[in-house]
Formats: sequence, C-alpha cells, structure tokens
Amino acid sequence: MAMFSLTRTTTPTSDAARLAALADPGFGRYYVDHMAIIDYQAGDGWQEPRIVPMSEWALHPAAAVLHYGQEIFEGLKAYRRDDDSVWLFRPERNAARFVQSAKRMGMAVLPEELFLASVNELVELERDWVPVGENEQSLYLRPFMIASEPYLGVREANTYRFAVIATPAGPYYSEPVKLWITPNYTRAAPGGTGTAKCGGNYAASLVATQEAAANGCGQVLWTDGAEHKWVEECGTMNIMFVTDDGQLLTPSLGSILAGVTRESILALAAEHGLEAVERPISVDEVLDGVESGRIPEVFACGTAAVVTPITGFNSPDRGVQTVADGTPGTKTREIRQHLVDIQFGRAEDKFGWTRKVG
Ligand SMILES: *Cc1c(COP(=O)(O)O)cnc(C)c1O
Repeated sequence: MAMFSLTRTTTPTSDAARLAALADPGFGRYYVDHMAIIDYQAGDGWQEPRIVPMSEWALHPAAAVLHYGQEIFEGLKAYRRDDDSVWLFRPERNAARFVQSAKRMGMAVLPEELFLASVNELVELERDWVPVGENEQSLYLRPFMIASEPYLGVREANTYRFAVIATPAGPYYSEPVKLWITPNYTRAAPGGTGTAKCGGNYAASLVATQEAAANGCGQVLWTDGAEHKWVEECGTMNIMFVTDDGQLLTPSLGSILAGVTRESILALAAEHGLEAVERPISVDEVLDGVESGRIPEVFACGTAAVVTPITGFNSPDRGVQTVADGTPGTKTREIRQHLVDIQFGRAEDKFGWTRKVG
C-alpha cells in the first residue's frame, strides 16, 4: 500500500466541538481536520501521497479547472457499526468509476489502489468523526480531482490534484419528491459526458432544477437528449419503477451515470420478489403506467439519500400525476431498509460488499 506522509494539524477540533457538530451535522457544514492529497505531474507521474491539515488552497488564477472545467468527483460513506468498527460500502466501485470519469475528461488516471488507500487512510485517521450509527448517520467522503496547471490554451492539463475531504452527514431523511419532466433541457447526449461524474454535468443541471421548483417539483426527471422520449435519471440519482407484475424496471446504462446504489439494488431485487429488468423505458410508458396503476411505486437511488420515494410527476403535456396514493410504497421502504442494514452490518452481506477500515 502507498505510504502516506502525515502532517498533523496544530489546531485540532476539540472533542466538545466535534461532538456538538456530530449531534447535528447536516451535510457539508463541518469538515474533518485533515485531507488526503496526491498531486500529478506529467512526465513524473503521481507524487508522494500525503495527509495534511484541512485548509484553503492557493490556486493560480489561470488554473485550467477554473476556465475549462476539468473536474471529476466521487461520493461514498463510512459507517460506524454497533461494535464501533468502521466500514465502507463497495469503495472499489467508486475507484473504478473514477478511472472511467478521468479518461472521459482527458485527465490523469489515478490507480485504483491509490484511490482506495487515500480513502482508507483518511477515514482511519479521522474515525472519531464517523458518527454513531443510530439514525443512519455517516461520514461522507468526497474524493475529487482538478486540473491545476496554470495555462489558458485549450488542451488537457499537465498537472492535476487529487484530494479526499470528508464531512459528517446527518440522518438523511429521504423526503418523497415529485419530478419535473423538462421539455427544455437535457443532462446528457450520446457521446457526451453523462457517464462521467464531473462537475460540469451539475453546473448544466441547475437551471432545470430551478424550472422544476417553479413547477412544484423537487427534482428533474431527465430524458434523452435526442427526442425527450426516453427516461434517463434524476441527475443525482438513478430511477427505478416497481410494476404490478413484480418487475423492478430501470433504464439501461448508456448515457446515464452508473450508480453503485443502482447496481446494488438490482442485485437485491430477487430477495424482494422482484425481477430486475434493465431496458429503455419511455416517458409515455411511465406516465401511462402511473395512470393505470401498472406502476404502483417509483423511487430514485444514490449514495447520499440511499432511496428517495418518488410520489408524483409533472410535465407540460400531462400535468400533475400522483403515483398510487402519493405515499412511499412497500417495496421502496423494504429495499431501502435492506440496503442500509447491509451497510451498517445488521443484515447479511451475501455479496461481500462491505470493507472494514483499518
Ligand atoms: C453519483 C450519481 C448518481 C448515484 O450514484 P451512486 O454511486 O449510487 O451514488 C446518479 N446519477 C448521477 C448523475 C450521479 O452523479
């Protein structure tokens, strides 16, 4: 494993301050005292991995990330179990996806073992920041990489910075949301960056979220870039439909983000009496199914909220439609609980998904 040098902070958070933060962490409000950093230099490769005090960075105003948006990220969580051990959930899937994202954005490729070592080292050092598991609290980890080279020409950068920061995350109540089916915007197009976890996709999505809010919805249901006909995903989450004849339907991979939560839930479907089916799904099929009752449950899934019940849709063509009686469905709640129980070590980990830290 890579050797990380450690420079300890001279101003650690006091126990009292940390406990106060963990009592009501919210999300992204507090950060652990250290971060992991690995710099990359073309010709030289990845430099010495280090853990340093959390602090601001000096960045040249011409740094390529500030102008042309070469940036990618990941999101995963560390969970504290009843026996006080700390675990990660399928971190190697995040490491592999980070490689794919880097390649798509023409960035330096971080070896998967360096990604995993960075996450492990930081969590081990900061394990006091992993909240106790009651109420499903966790430590959210944000690995990311930017093009740091000061250069205003348009080409891939020669220097990159990879870092991992961490923020305690409170009980994430998966508030049910309604989805706005926008006729005006697309998140991804064939050949575009939809399959990469890059900041630019999010920058491009915010105006559509504003449009969703103006139409009484919490989030956007993205459709395909060519016809606005096929369902894609929710922008920070993948989408799934439960049918009345026992299928768990989700759009095939292609221009959507390949979620770890999506993949995991598809693997668990059979244990909930559902047949997992990945195929193209049209907006009409969904809205007809919601109207007729053929689709009694809809939910979105991703690391942050695990599973978010979708209780309705709004679209210019068909107006507001409610899924079943507008409350979270039974399978939705069962699947969410099952996944969270695996993550916290309360349910059997048949697929070998969890990794102990330290
Ligand atoms: C991160 C992300 C997801 C969810 O992926 P998980 O690995 O399950 O957290 C879904 N869609 C988009 C666009 C994302 O960026």
